Amino acid sequence: MHDTSASLAISALPAFSDNYLWLIHCGQHALVVDPGDAEVVEQALQAHQLQLVGILLTHHHSDHVGGAAVLQQHWQCPVYAPYSDLPVYRALQASRVQQGDQIYFSHFGTLTIDVLSLPGHTLDHIAYYLNRQHLFSGDVLFGAGCGRLFEGTPSQMHASLQQIAALPTTTLIYPAHEYTAHNIAFAQTVDPDNPELQQRAQDAAALRARERPTLPTTLALELATNPFLRCEALSHLPAFLNWPTLDVFTELRARRNQF
Ligand SMILES: [Zn+2]
Repeated sequence: MHDTSASLAISALPAFSDNYLWLIHCGQHALVVDPGDAEVVEQALQAHQLQLVGILLTHHHSDHVGGAAVLQQHWQCPVYAPYSDLPVYRALQASRVQQGDQIYFSHFGTLTIDVLSLPGHTLDHIAYYLNRQHLFSGDVLFGAGCGRLFEGTPSQMHASLQQIAALPTTTLIYPAHEYTAHNIAFAQTVDPDNPELQQRAQDAAALRARERPTLPTTLALELATNPFLRCEALSHLPAFLNWPTLDVFTELRARRNQF
């Protein structure tokens, strides 16, 4: 993980049972996405002699924001958060960002971060799109799956996923949880004859057997294997009999909740 070339590097910091806190670093400076646990971040910073210069929050759930206040106090760094008036963001004096906003950090040269508004998991959920190449998708898109609908509607989540689907297929995606293997098991129940999904099941199992992350993923792989991005293709299977794609999405999300 140590970066001596001052080029951009991105590391997964495992936390809790299945979260990843994503550390973006360049030279001696680092940003963290969704620091649910401050201690995990501090240990990584110390081990690699990095200074934290910014905190990026995708949504307000405690496993994503829980460590932000302690880190901000220690490092006196800016916090970016969704454009909603929640006490947790007010307490952090976070800069609120939304679709169309762009964030820069002076320590990171030409690095740019575009903000996408992706409601569904929560109403105010945002994602951070680094250099139009790396998407930090929080709890919207997971490997072979998507987030639960705690606040938004199926229609909102479906539209958010379609917005991700329209990005370049080479986009690398960094979800906040290691749910890939279970999501693949579900995907195989609705898309059983998909050879790319079968291959992904083997690849993911091999990585998890070595306790390696299955992430980041690529948009190309998600388009080929993630049922929540394949509603149109699945609607032509006998099980769905040409349902509208939103109906397929809604049914998939309901079935996944029970899986
Ligand atoms: Zn969440």
